[in-house]
Amino acid sequence: MSAATYDLHTHTLWSDGTLSPADLVARAQASGVAVLALTDHDVTGGIAEGYAAATQAGVRLIPGVEISVTWQGETVHVLGLCIRPEHEPLQQGLARLREFRDWRAEEIGRRLRKKNIEGAYDYARGIARGPIISRTHFARFLVARGYVSTMGQAFKQYLARGRAAHVPEQWAKLDEVVGWVRGAGGLAVIAHPTRYPFGYGKLRRLLQEFKESGGAGVEVSSGMQRPGDGETIARLAVELDLLGSAGSDFHGPEQQWLEVGKLAPVAPPVVPVWTAFAPEYREVSTR
Ligand code: AMP
Ligand code: MN
Ligand code: MN
Ligand code: MN
Repeated sequence: MSAATYDLHTHTLWSDGTLSPADLVARAQASGVAVLALTDHDVTGGIAEGYAAATQAGVRLIPGVEISVTWQGETVHVLGLCIRPEHEPLQQGLARLREFRDWRAEEIGRRLRKKNIEGAYDYARGIARGPIISRTHFARFLVARGYVSTMGQAFKQYLARGRAAHVPEQWAKLDEVVGWVRGAGGLAVIAHPTRYPFGYGKLRRLLQEFKESGGAGVEVSSGMQRPGDGETIARLAVELDLLGSAGSDFHGPEQQWLEVGKLAPVAPPVVPVWTAFAPEYREVSTR
């Protein structure tokens, strides 16, 4: 697959990625990405460093964020693209989510201790380079201490819903998050739609409700898609009049199956989300 020019979903060490914003920008440029959105979980602090590096590298940096939502009892991720990070209601909302994350991290530590697994919270806190602690940090602890051999197993055995260290999520509401993103001048996009534990009917209801709340788009091209996923979402995007986004969800070079910019194109009749971007966020024309 050739490198896409747009990659609108990536993480840095400000959340649960492993590269700094500057290193991510360098890697994106080397992979032929012309427009890169930095979308850390529930935090926008890495954008300033990303901007500086992108200006140097000749990459367009889209200020973004990936916001945790609880919808019908399940976690759904909403990307905000082309946001003004300083928008106060957005920052207040993200601060509230980070407070929940802080409490949840301690609670995950307590739940692991009940299973005779000591030191998880301190380890996770210690390796988190940014202001949030993610389940990813606990998964790294469980791998490092040999409780499991892969990150996937850490989720499956301890951190996923229904497992011993899972804490029921209390994220933000869908319409509330769309409001924060739009208030910040941004476009709201449903991330990795086929990764939720929803059947087709429930996924369609999510996208419909999202559209009615003012959502702009859905990721039709995502880094970890099964065959046929892209086509399913493309049809729904056209039917529900949602724009199509493309994002790898890159978290770092150690995820060997996934690379920044390595994406299927957004193909007609889906309308790409970047057609709604302001000119300063479009790809730089070389002609
Ligand atoms: P959190 O937002 O703290 O609940 O953590 C969710 C993050 O964990 C996601 O953004 C992914 O980066 C990561 N994650 C979720 N499930 C898995 C899995 N099965 N294997 C590896 N990473 C996962
Ligand atoms: Mn993540
Ligand atoms: Mn996500
Ligand atoms: Mn993500």
